[in-house]
Amino acid sequence: MILLDGKTTSNQIKEEIAIEVLQLKKDGIRVPHLAAILVGSDGASMTYVTAKVKACSKAGFESTLVDLPENTTEEQLLKEIETLNTNPEIDGFIVQLPLPKHIDEQKVLMAVNPDKDVDGFHPINVGKMTLDLPSFLPATPFGILELLERYNVETSGKHVVVIGRSHIVGRPMSILLSQKRTTGNATVTVAHSRTQNLKELTLQADIIVAALGIPEFLTADMVKEEVTIIDVGITRLKDDTKKNGYRLAGDVHFDSVSKKAAFITPVPGGVGPMTIAMLLKNTLLAAKNRS
Ligand code: NAD
Repeated sequence: MILLDGKTTSNQIKEEIAIEVLQLKKDGIRVPHLAAILVGSDGASMTYVTAKVKACSKAGFESTLVDLPENTTEEQLLKEIETLNTNPEIDGFIVQLPLPKHIDEQKVLMAVNPDKDVDGFHPINVGKMTLDLPSFLPATPFGILELLERYNVETSGKHVVVIGRSHIVGRPMSILLSQKRTTGNATVTVAHSRTQNLKELTLQADIIVAALGIPEFLTADMVKEEVTIIDVGITRLKDDTKKNGYRLAGDVHFDSVSKKAAFITPVPGGVGPMTIAMLLKNTLLAAKNRS
């Protein structure tokens, strides 16, 4: 079994980005600037945003955190987005999800300037991705492609089962892996909450991307020998033995599934850090598009 080490790989990518940023500086070009909007004080969201901002400064980027209270109205948030859309100093920005219930997520994502949409969630970028045109790829699926590529995991002609059809992970992952691209050309099955014969499907899979958000859902009896496992899930489970009171669990029962797998991502240290590295990669691309 080979561990698909997202932590080490993402550090390599971040170093590659930092070298490019250094070169931009030498050439007298302004460094990339990423902004993040956080609404409310959800613990996980705050952790993710903090990690993203920290990664920016490590790579030599400028970063700005727009920290808004939970009771921010949709109108106020749209105003903040417009400010970032028109600020020439900002190359790219993200709106951390989930948003409080009183705010229409779709409306907010539609308001982001597609040229600054480094999360790749705007319909224009989703459309471009679907049509194989250059665009910002959503960071999590982009990170998974990069991880598979760097570990030389063959995808061409393989059967991939993606569990989950969310707009940010499952759906784009299934599209990208089925496309004619270096890490692609796979035959993809998308499974979701209404899928009736999931185990039958996963037992046929060469590669499984588990993105459903149910801790330790995928067990050893559901996979074949030599399978490649990408575990996207991150759930906080109460654990009084931990200092912070919780542990992170993936969607895969790692201890049993890893015994059958050829390649597997751990949680934490797999897909999560790759997501942040790809956000930086998209922001660097946005900065290059600007100059
Ligand atoms: P989501 O809740 O939006 O979607 C879950 C999907 O799983 C749905 O499409 C649903 O149909 C499917 N599903 C639910 N129960 C199922 C079942 N029993 N069988 C088959 N399919 C089922 O989730 P999401 O936003 O895609 O996130 C999924 C998980 O990935 C979460 O744990 C989330 O925290 C994590 N996540 C991690 C990263 C990262 O960077 N590592 C990024 C995004 C999301």
